[in-house]
Amino acid sequence: MMPFSELVLASHNAGKLKELQAMLGDAVRVRSVAEFSTVEPEETGLSFVENAILKARNAARISGLPALADDSGLAVDALGGAPGIYSARYADGQGDAANNAKLLDVLREVPDAERGAQFVCALALVRHADDPLPIICEGLWHGRILHAARGEHGFGYDPLFWVPECDCSSAELPAAQKNQLSHRARAMALLKQRLGI
Ligand code: IMP
Repeated sequence: MMPFSELVLASHNAGKLKELQAMLGDAVRVRSVAEFSTVEPEETGLSFVENAILKARNAARISGLPALADDSGLAVDALGGAPGIYSARYADGQGDAANNAKLLDVLREVPDAERGAQFVCALALVRHADDPLPIICEGLWHGRILHAARGEHGFGYDPLFWVPECDCSSAELPAAQKNQLSHRARAMALLKQRLGI
């Protein structure tokens, strides 16, 4: 049983809201934090989980509703988990193509066996702003960083992320298939289990 009928998503991204509403079904109405404030909090955490909690608390505080936040990115083993929480701005805010070019360059001399990486998605749900017991669900998607881009689907680092179980890059997967396998799908499945829906 869903413990509440409404929650606020700590994201200004309309696509994410739609995806989440579809996954949660009719049990809960998902509202955007943009209805309550246009100011986004500073992400000062050092981990995906810390940043997800921080965003969820902020959204709960300004909306007065239970809040869900996600934080995601790419963690490369050979780089100690970088770009990690800085994935979106790895190349100083110059966008996806520049991020990918930088990653390829940094890993130029790294052999295949050491190119392991994972996409990470952390979800945090708080019942209210000061909730001492947030629900935390993490989804990991293991793969390897390619030597050159492949595929046209997806976004971000998808063209560089080799998915061993599919024998292709995540940008070569149709959206529907990626959405069943991805870090976000795994985290969402855990969240639904925790909420009993
Ligand atoms: P966001 O905070 O979920 O928008 O994602 C942060 C950054 O992580 C994005 O800008 C991408 O660079 C990277 N990222 C997260 N999820 C994915 C994915 O599914 N594919 C490719 N890149 C991703």
